Amino acid sequence: MARVLIVAPHPDDEVLGCGGSIAMHAEAGHEVAIAFLTSGEHGGSAEADDLGTRREREAVDAAAALGVRSDRLRFLRFPDGGIDPYDCDQFGVVLEVLRESRPDLLYLPHPKDGSFDHEAAFALCWRAAQMAGSSNYPQCGSPHWVSTILGYEVWTPITQPALLRDIAPVVERKLAALGRYRTQTVGAKGAGQSTLVGPACMHLTGFRGASTTGGHREAFTVLRLREVIV
Ligand SMILES: [Zn+2]
Repeated sequence: MARVLIVAPHPDDEVLGCGGSIAMHAEAGHEVAIAFLTSGEHGGSAEADDLGTRREREAVDAAAALGVRSDRLRFLRFPDGGIDPYDCDQFGVVLEVLRESRPDLLYLPHPKDGSFDHEAAFALCWRAAQMAGSSNYPQCGSPHWVSTILGYEVWTPITQPALLRDIAPVVERKLAALGRYRTQTVGAKGAGQSTLVGPACMHLTGFRGASTTGGHREAFTVLRLREVIV
């Protein structure tokens, strides 16, 4: 059975970037896991402790809407705004997650996704993925080579996507999962960038569809690919 791991800098990035793909993997019977680097405790007006806890609960609900069980979620609780690819402790934790979950397919924010945490998350996870297949750091588990890595888009559209996955069959489930993040809606945050996150996300997948064959698609950059069949 294929194993799939999604890394999200904050709870909701996994849905925004690849929620449709997550639902399709789950439907296909793949073993899907999600690791949240931070709990997004500074992503709203509530007290940080409370907001982080609430967003974790929302992440559980959103994952359920996509067909992913709660015991497949890992909350690493790095500081929101403090993801650091040079932090050896964070690096070690991500390396452990990769070697424990042993994914065949790994989803990360793409390298130029325009948010400090997202770019830092890519750099941190890329560093860990580069090391995961080696025998270095034996205290972080046994070596595992991650054969395929895709970069998803949240805040900065990918200039030249290499993969455009048709998510039309599950687009409503992606929208439903987004709706589980109540702390990130208009009522919770007031006017601001979050106000249009849901519709904007759908517009982006719609745009990706329009640029190909219609419908809705999620776009990815291919960072590593196991093989190409020609
Ligand atoms: Zn984020």
